[in-house]
Amino acid sequence: MLEWNSIDTVLFDMDGTVLDLHFDNYFWEDLVPARYAERHGLEKAEAQALLRKRYEKVKGTLDWYCLDFWSESLTMDIPGMKEEVRHKIALRPFALEFLQQLRNSGRTALLVTNAHPDSLNLKMRHTGIAKHFDQTISSHTVGSRNLRLAKENPGFWHALRQQHPFDPQRTLLIDDSLPVLRCAAAEGIRHLLAIRQPDSQRAPLQLEEFVQLDDFTQIMPGLQPSHPLRAVGVNPARDEAIPKAPPQQRDSQ
Ligand SMILES: [Mg+2]
Repeated sequence: MLEWNSIDTVLFDMDGTVLDLHFDNYFWEDLVPARYAERHGLEKAEAQALLRKRYEKVKGTLDWYCLDFWSESLTMDIPGMKEEVRHKIALRPFALEFLQQLRNSGRTALLVTNAHPDSLNLKMRHTGIAKHFDQTISSHTVGSRNLRLAKENPGFWHALRQQHPFDPQRTLLIDDSLPVLRCAAAEGIRHLLAIRQPDSQRAPLQLEEFVQLDDFTQIMPGLQPSHPLRAVGVNPARDEAIPKAPPQQRDSQ
């Protein structure tokens, strides 16, 4: 299904791709409204409707993913609440096996998420998967301070390449978000895959535009080393044309 010989970098989304989106859906649509309802003396359904409107206003912008923004605007300890329910953070099926196989093949694996750095760190700490990526990158740290772009905003993938060079023609992006996949396609990323069921507790999504993965085993068979000629030194010119992997960077926690 995939031309693995034409791919040497894989960009992974986090929530809904490597991790089960159930944690996030539960958090924002269940736990936050429940606490908000308690505090303001509302029914939970009222709080859900009210919060949904507030979410809609900032959806698709970096604020939607910003824990500081929500802590301030809801006057709630959002990072603390996430810590409280961190036991619900879970990997999607075969994510770990796929990552291990990918790294063993010599390819570069980058985690590129819209999640706030605190949320990224919490999830990396809980799952222990940071070590399987060459880098873990929050979109909050991409671009200049004035250029606050989420992955679905035009210019994001160009800005990412400035900071973390990769060849878009030899890159695969796996992401559960349709706007993100569309934006990446428009900015030249050649190989794109979607996720059929980002939240294990909800119905699968039907996307027409992109091939959807049920789980990572579908793209594991036939995974060949990314530089099959390098081991015997047959084609050094080709090796030079491939951008160098960015330096290792691990989460500090
Ligand atoms: Mg996602």
